Amino acid sequence: MAVIGIDLGTTNSLASVWKDSRPVIIRNSLGSILTPSVVGVDEDNNVVVGEVARERLISHPDKTVSEFKRSMGTKKTFSVGDNSFTPEQLSSLVLNKIKEDAEAFLGDEITEAVISVPAYFDDCRRSATKQAAEMSGLKVERLINEPSAAALAYMQKHGFEDGTYMVIDFGGGTLDVSMIDSFDSVMEILAVAGNNQLGGKDFNAAVYTYFLKENGLDEDSLTAEQKASIYKSAEACKIALSDIPMSIMSVNIADKSYTLNLDNNSLIKIAHEVFEKIGEPIKRVLRDSHMNINEVKDIILVGGSCKMPIVAAYIERLTGRKPCTDIDPDTAIAVGAGIFAGMKDRNKDFKDVILTDICPFSLGTAVQDSRTMERIMDFIIQRNSMLPTSKMHDYYAASDNQTKVRVTVYQGESIIPENNIKLGELVIECPPTPLHEYIASLRLTYDINGILVVDVTANDKKTYSKVILSESNTMSEEELAKCKEQLNRLRLAAPDDEKYKLLIARAERIIEETLSFERKIITEALMDYKACLANGNERDIRLTTKRFARFLDQAEGIDTGINDDEDNNIEY
Ligand code: ADP
Ligand code: MG
Repeated sequence: MAVIGIDLGTTNSLASVWKDSRPVIIRNSLGSILTPSVVGVDEDNNVVVGEVARERLISHPDKTVSEFKRSMGTKKTFSVGDNSFTPEQLSSLVLNKIKEDAEAFLGDEITEAVISVPAYFDDCRRSATKQAAEMSGLKVERLINEPSAAALAYMQKHGFEDGTYMVIDFGGGTLDVSMIDSFDSVMEILAVAGNNQLGGKDFNAAVYTYFLKENGLDEDSLTAEQKASIYKSAEACKIALSDIPMSIMSVNIADKSYTLNLDNNSLIKIAHEVFEKIGEPIKRVLRDSHMNINEVKDIILVGGSCKMPIVAAYIERLTGRKPCTDIDPDTAIAVGAGIFAGMKDRNKDFKDVILTDICPFSLGTAVQDSRTMERIMDFIIQRNSMLPTSKMHDYYAASDNQTKVRVTVYQGESIIPENNIKLGELVIECPPTPLHEYIASLRLTYDINGILVVDVTANDKKTYSKVILSESNTMSEEELAKCKEQLNRLRLAAPDDEKYKLLIARAERIIEETLSFERKIITEALMDYKACLANGNERDIRLTTKRFARFLDQAEGIDTGINDDEDNNIEY
């Protein structure tokens, strides 16, 4: 039974496995590498995950959700049709799809996984990720930081050479920059910095806004579907510019066709604000790790947005260094997670590499400054400390005969406690203690998975408290069981063949996007197709599916130039 490595992304997820002495990327049930991290329900309240759900984002916005990874470990819930889901449940549905597709691909049962998480994920979001995995029937062998995974993929290819590497992960909605030091098979994260509000979606938004401006369209006069349709075209136009010098974006709105010609130079201009923000985390990570860019052995680019030549060129200009180009930005993290899973599987191909992690935020308590009497932060574990780490802090009585100590733990970098995130509070009883005398000790412990444990010991040694904080945003056992049950009920509804569903969802989206005449034709074709699915025999369905897919390609003006029709000589 193999252990797989999973990159559970905000935009896309994927998995890999170490097999026959090499990393193998797992293809999903549709034959694709990337599974969009999108979840929805269809008309029968069956869950749809991945490509099908992404297609339905436009046509069924109230029944489809994305970007829930951002809310992991919070109390936020997402309504999907008549259901309400936690971010953990939604992630578990994505994980379950990855698991089932991997089982089909490998022909083996999968019960364990190494899952990558952003290096800046705090304990709460890490616990939430573990719970999502548990709900999907996967035991988490280890949570691995995304940049460490990317560096592992790099080193598996280039050899495990000592040195310090910079990993720039520019995805759909986040930019994460990390410094990884590799020395004698120990990989250590030296520092992380990032912007969790910067990513591919900002380029999409820039193209979207430019499209509206150039076509004299007023956003307020557009329906939600029209906006979503323009947005989708904007993203496609941006992606096309990674391969061709100029791209034409064309959208039909209220029976009128609007177009925009875009090239990379114009994209640089309209998205200049995005570029201006790329440098900041790069500089910060160098400062935090006390390094000069010239000491960096290589720059590893990962994440879909690094596939943009203008992004790679910008980073090259900014750093004066040519980033490595032979690592696939889409798969590096999953491959690294798979390699790590291989190591954990005691694979003979590896001598064990030890991965060390860091704590991405400072942790501390609020104390009163004796001069100003202001409440300020006392940082106990500093940002970028290596994990596991455990730090003690002693408390002294602030008043005579003090019998209680209140410890409030905050996470963040601001000196003003209230500006940081309050993780939790603990009040303990102590014997009456005179002013300024030792009254209690606090110990903060971050384990290797970034899970935080807080211990407070009073001066009589008897009162000993041990609590895992995080404002209990994570679920209790009971809540977890309830969530699991809700998901199991949903999953029982047997999914139809995904390929058919994808075509239907795609047709529905195109219908949303097209003009009245075309719309009518596509609707007719869709109804014919649905009738065939309901009544046709296996062969009819297979042929009609091909024909319908080609019809939709034509409707969208896609010419693949590939004639892969196995039935070419028989029917057409
Ligand atoms: P995440 O880590 O957020 O799950 P990914 O690393 O998969 O995301 O990146 C997704 C982003 O990459 C999206 O914004 C998408 O538009 C963008 N993207 C993917 N492929 C390309 C490409 N070839 N050119 C430009 N952008 C791309
Ligand atoms: Mg990613």
